[in-house]
Amino acid sequence: MVVRHSPNTHHITEQDIYIKAKKILNSLNKANYEAYLVGGAVRDLLLDKSPKDFDIATSAHPEEVNRVFSSCRLIGRRFRLAHVHFGREYLEVATFRAPHHKNDHSGGKTTEDGRITHDNVYGTLEEDALRRDFTVNALFYDLQTGDVLDHVNGMDDIHKRQLRLIGDPETRYREDPVRMLRAIRFVAKLGFTIHPDTERPIYALGHLLKDIAPARLFDETLKLFHGGQALKTFHLLRQYDLFQYLFPLTEHSLLLDEDDTFLDFIETALSNTDKRINSGKSTTPAFLFAVMLWDKLNAHFEYHREEGQPAYQAMHKATNDVFSEQVRSIAVPRRFSNVSRDIWMLQARFTHKDCRSALAFIEHRRFRAAYDFYCLRASAGQLPAEECDWWTRFQFASPEDQEAMCEPFKRPKKRRRHRKRKK
Ligand code: ATP
Ligand code: MG
Repeated sequence: MVVRHSPNTHHITEQDIYIKAKKILNSLNKANYEAYLVGGAVRDLLLDKSPKDFDIATSAHPEEVNRVFSSCRLIGRRFRLAHVHFGREYLEVATFRAPHHKNDHSGGKTTEDGRITHDNVYGTLEEDALRRDFTVNALFYDLQTGDVLDHVNGMDDIHKRQLRLIGDPETRYREDPVRMLRAIRFVAKLGFTIHPDTERPIYALGHLLKDIAPARLFDETLKLFHGGQALKTFHLLRQYDLFQYLFPLTEHSLLLDEDDTFLDFIETALSNTDKRINSGKSTTPAFLFAVMLWDKLNAHFEYHREEGQPAYQAMHKATNDVFSEQVRSIAVPRRFSNVSRDIWMLQARFTHKDCRSALAFIEHRRFRAAYDFYCLRASAGQLPAEECDWWTRFQFASPEDQEAMCEPFKRPKKRRRHRKRKK
């Protein structure tokens, strides 16, 4: 049954709604379809936070949405969606969906163990509310009346600041184990507690994450660690025993990390990431993976060195070892893993402070990322702080000062081996 919370019982007003979302809602309503603002936007507005995106749910089928908007694109197989474009920007418009059952041949599919693989059974507004994950994510805002429509007692949970799965928690986690990660993400982001019934099954069901496509886990990992609450998220993931399914190598390093040096390193990195994100600076996933795999990388490097490999080759092999293991859980696209590799491979160059090497190095296109990583190592106590300081000063010094700084590090000229010239 639906409860309508009228405008005088909550404080969302028309002005809070993004103008492009309003345009879409109005156009769909005019074409006689039901259409509401839904999900994170309604939740965040009720909590006085500014929403990340404005998602819309409608009774119109994707093809019908396509007919209402000239600038519409239909995407997705697992979940067919309409993107309504405004230049390069777009908003997502999803048709109401129904929960569905095993062996249902009308567009919804679940595996033997209850996991949803296809999700294209259209339904009513109420059905759409019930198939959502948490009650606070299942509230609909009606632009025409200003009411918030609530089928799941979500408003009550907003006031209690708690996350509660809709329906039977274990069934809902089995349908889609990523909901466990979403729970952690929302706890970190919103500062909510998890209802005990929603919390309890997580410890026993974490292993289900092993069956999730690594590409999807990459997307979720970015949302978890680049949302401005990475440090808190990291602690929560470990507390709920979920971290090992995302970063098995890192978890193993942490188990062996008796004096917490690696833990300090990760915590320092994540708190830096949070600071960067919360002050509007950019971050790259390459850095996150370079941090998380650093300890195992060094272990593999040592191993290849002991095997008799030269340092460069040993490092190269170590990067392959750790990434080939990591991508079994999280599919890190090559454009990022290649940057992580560069960050690692370049660490050795910081020891060369002679003018020729140092001046060339600060011009390297990955210098900045490698330098950030080097200084992170210094701030986590892996290197003397002066090492980082030297490079900080050097890169910003005048050419004369640079010369004075690097001159003392002149390397003795290597004696050339005499080679016979070919005739
Ligand atoms: P954010 O502010 O991070 O975007 P959000 O709640 O909007 O949070 P989205 O991933 O954008 O999260 O999803 C939009 C909505 O779709 C959610 O609020 C929820 O209602 C529904 N949803 C998303 N993922 C799932 C899922 N795995 N299972 C059920 N419902 C989901
Ligand atoms: Mg959203």
